[in-house]
Amino acid sequence: MDFSAQHTWENYDPRGKVLLRLNKIRALIPPDVRSILDVGCGNGIITNALAENYAVTGLDPSSTALSYVLGPSVQASISSIPCGNRSFDLASCNEVLEHLSTSDFEQGISELKRVASSYLLIGVPHREQLAKKFFRCADCGHSEHAHGHLRSFTLGYLDALFAPDYERLNVSVFGIRERDIPAWLLRCKRRQGQWFVPPPGSTCPVCGSAGFMHQSTPATKFCNALNLIISRPRPYWLLALYRRKSGLE
Ligand SMILES: [Zn+2]
Repeated sequence: MDFSAQHTWENYDPRGKVLLRLNKIRALIPPDVRSILDVGCGNGIITNALAENYAVTGLDPSSTALSYVLGPSVQASISSIPCGNRSFDLASCNEVLEHLSTSDFEQGISELKRVASSYLLIGVPHREQLAKKFFRCADCGHSEHAHGHLRSFTLGYLDALFAPDYERLNVSVFGIRERDIPAWLLRCKRRQGQWFVPPPGSTCPVCGSAGFMHQSTPATKFCNALNLIISRPRPYWLLALYRRKSGLE
């Protein structure tokens, strides 16, 4: 995904999934919160909605994305937030952490902890099976996650990232339900040439081709039917609220 391109943000939420997340976010924000920094706010779907009730600042590295944010905004990376220590009651970070390189990720976690005075609200895919969504370019063979996700999160992993400074107050697992697929069954599909298909308009980041491998054969149909029997769908999103522990500086 090209996060600096206008078409990415104009078509970012065609099925309204973000609105479901917005309702969960509203429900988790504690009553004493007044100011929010929305880190990696993208085109501000959530930022603009929360601004009805809070003093919200959007932060994103993309000036194109920020052009859709109606209120105050800061163009910056999560790895270097140009805001003072504890300058917002709550820092929120949704659909961001799973995309970050290791150095941005480590710096980003410490920046979130630093700029929030009281709370962190973190949204990530829950126990995502990354391999399931790898595409394969039909021309050069390049393969990567279709949405650029580089890491997967459990609740325990998330808790450990923010400890010991922050403790978890609340959590919600919700949203569209997806099925995992056993590794052996995924390998079986790939041997037949069936990979995940990226969103329409996607191109290979290596060679620019718009062709992706997605063969459908009797064997892949069998694999997919078998997975419907042996796997159970589960909610895809994890949203966790953390509070800064008193006495820790
Ligand atoms: Zn390619």
